[in-house]
Amino acid sequence: MSNVSGSALGRFRSLLAPGKAASSASQKPLTGSELEQAVLLLRDYEASGLGWFWSSDNEGRITYISDCIAERLGCERSALIGQPIQALFVLDRDEDDTVERTLPLILSARKTFSDIQVRAAAEDREIWWSISGRPQLQADGTFLGYRGNGTDITATRQSQKDASRLAQYDSLTGLANRHRMGKRLSATLTAYQAAKRACAVMMMDLDRFKAVNDTLGHPAGDELLKQVAQRLQRVISDKNCEIGRLGGDEFQIMLPDIDDRGRLGEIAKTIITMISQPYQIEGSRCVIGASVGIAIAPYDGINSEELVRSADLALYAAKGGGRGQFRFYSSDLHSEAERRRQIEEDLRDALGSGQMRVAYQPIVDTKSNKVVAMEAFSRWEHPELGDVPPSVFIPIAEEANLIGPLGDWILKQACAEAANWPGGVRVAVNVSAAQFANTGLPSLVAQALAHAELPPERLELELTESIFLGDEAATSEMFNQLKLLGVRLALDDFGTGYSSLSYLQHAPFDKIKIDKSFIRGVTEEGNRNAAIIASIVSLAKALKMETTAEGIEAHDELEAMRKLGVSQIQGYIYASPTTAELVDEALASGEWVIEPEGPSRYRQDRRTVLRKVGLIHEDHRYEVTMRNLSRSGCMVEGLMDVPEGTQFVVDFGEGQLAVAVVRRSAGTMQGLEFEQQLVDDGAGGLCTRHRVSPYVLAQAGMPLQALPSGSYPMQLMQQPGTPISLPKFGQVDPGKPRAKVA
Ligand code: C2E
Ligand code: MG
Ligand code: MG
Repeated sequence: MSNVSGSALGRFRSLLAPGKAASSASQKPLTGSELEQAVLLLRDYEASGLGWFWSSDNEGRITYISDCIAERLGCERSALIGQPIQALFVLDRDEDDTVERTLPLILSARKTFSDIQVRAAAEDREIWWSISGRPQLQADGTFLGYRGNGTDITATRQSQKDASRLAQYDSLTGLANRHRMGKRLSATLTAYQAAKRACAVMMMDLDRFKAVNDTLGHPAGDELLKQVAQRLQRVISDKNCEIGRLGGDEFQIMLPDIDDRGRLGEIAKTIITMISQPYQIEGSRCVIGASVGIAIAPYDGINSEELVRSADLALYAAKGGGRGQFRFYSSDLHSEAERRRQIEEDLRDALGSGQMRVAYQPIVDTKSNKVVAMEAFSRWEHPELGDVPPSVFIPIAEEANLIGPLGDWILKQACAEAANWPGGVRVAVNVSAAQFANTGLPSLVAQALAHAELPPERLELELTESIFLGDEAATSEMFNQLKLLGVRLALDDFGTGYSSLSYLQHAPFDKIKIDKSFIRGVTEEGNRNAAIIASIVSLAKALKMETTAEGIEAHDELEAMRKLGVSQIQGYIYASPTTAELVDEALASGEWVIEPEGPSRYRQDRRTVLRKVGLIHEDHRYEVTMRNLSRSGCMVEGLMDVPEGTQFVVDFGEGQLAVAVVRRSAGTMQGLEFEQQLVDDGAGGLCTRHRVSPYVLAQAGMPLQALPSGSYPMQLMQQPGTPISLPKFGQVDPGKPRAKVA
């Protein structure tokens, strides 16, 4: 009964409600039998449920109402007679329906109205009517009341609502769709610009989602996306935020009124951790990861296109920097993206043109300091970019389907070189999940061994947990095949992402490699890593597996690993990865024993850097060289005779300013302490929580735009017309850089 312009109603409309026909009919009174006919037709019509009638007196009280209305409202008709007509409706309830709120105004102005949508005052369910009314006037113009009709439009409204829901939400996950996110973000940013408020946007992309889709099938992929959506909703519970799925495995989150990068970084980390926990999909277990890019308005973009582009670029950089990371937008990501594209392009020729080589790092027996194995790493000497680290090019190679030939080359090269080593020293080769998923891997391994004449027990394949993703049967078949060849298997990077001891019981590993992130802080008081490593070691012993601790740099860490019973150590404290020639030399005597050498304690916080920063004092900005940086302070060089206690504003560029006090001062070197600690920038560096707001810059006369690169705070500091003081400090050229650029 959604369409109410049927002929029966048309007739009654002209009889009883608005329109010229009604007035001409009222001028010609009906005869007795016509009246009787009219009443019968009216009753039939009311009984048909197609519509209803009402009338009111000159004070707006109901004088007639069709039976069906009383029925729908769950009361007697007599109870409605005498009530104000408004009592039938709920007014002011639906925020986006402004029409219904105008009804009382129309009624009190005694105007004609038609097809106004109102919500019925029914408590137990939602009923919507469209109502019309026409004032009844005496010949002298005296108002007598209203007569009108109505129809039930609940079904129409519901289907309209469904359609608009469908147009705004993703039917799979129930999250907002691309269309809605775009509209909301534009509307929010426009309103926020006027109110000078900030708004952050996160773009999230799932790592390895394609593998789940490919191995477990699309229905499983869909189920996974639903679970991802639920987890996101758990992390982002603030009602002002909105989460959307833009398509595929791409998600977007709008976070109004947050511009604190410390807080945003924490949120991103929580999201990544939550998404990286395992999923149970149709009886299979699977693990995926997530990367997050973050941009904040007005700093990184003023309108939604600009902001989303910035967040996208940050996401691209996060994915490029290895998986499971977040990244804030910064203007130098543009050149980074360009570099990544270049790397992908050049990677195709790198193998053929001899730019790749293999570096080896000793793995040392904890008790005897004797080298027992060498881990092979790929090294790429790019003709223009110099050394490109594997953490950068391996993920690109995986994505660009180049890991096959690259992995095969390293395997062959490592086996051939290892075959020359005396004394049974093993070689360990990293195998990425993409290689493991290739059913041809066992025969490639067999060929490499045969070609080099290397006994299989001297080859160890290092696998990461990501191989457990997807098809369990295929994974266990691959394990069988590799074990049949007689090679050893190691679980690499244990302790990163999701680490489950349950893998260890089912997979035929000979060794567990405990990741360096697990080792950092192990000697600090209250750190629980020691207890966890102890339990990994005892489980490994029970399962007859060896353990290797990775990334040991300091004596305190080495001591801790010895106490915990870890069987082997790999790290700078023994040796960094080195060339095949040096390995040959060192092993020439048949045995290689290394004395550990390194700092007594691991110092995580201070990073050696070398870059120019600005120091602002009174009306002056001095260029100095920053030599090291930690969360709480930095060491700078370049000013003479600065008294302790002097306050500076450190200008890191791109609107990043930090208030700092000189705590130590010697000659041209000053140790500064920040008033507010720096936070992680997601790329292994540090950044300020807040930046100079483009709104503030706009007030100072700059155009309102996302933060330009470079430095500009002096424009803010100097009041036009005020005299400029003399510089307090003499500036010196710190000369040639003494530290290496980190
Ligand atoms: P990984 O297999 O866990 O290798 C350990 C990484 O830690 C290596 O970095 C190594 O140089 C570094 N490292 C060793 N000792 C220390 C230390 O004491 N302190 C610190 N901070 N780092 C230490 P690298 O060579 O940059 O390789 C990074 C990752 O790239 C490797 O992690 C591995 O997952 C991957 N990779 C490297 N070469 C290959 C390859 O040929 N194939 C595949 N599939 N992956 C590779
Ligand atoms: Mg490894
Ligand atoms: Mg590792």
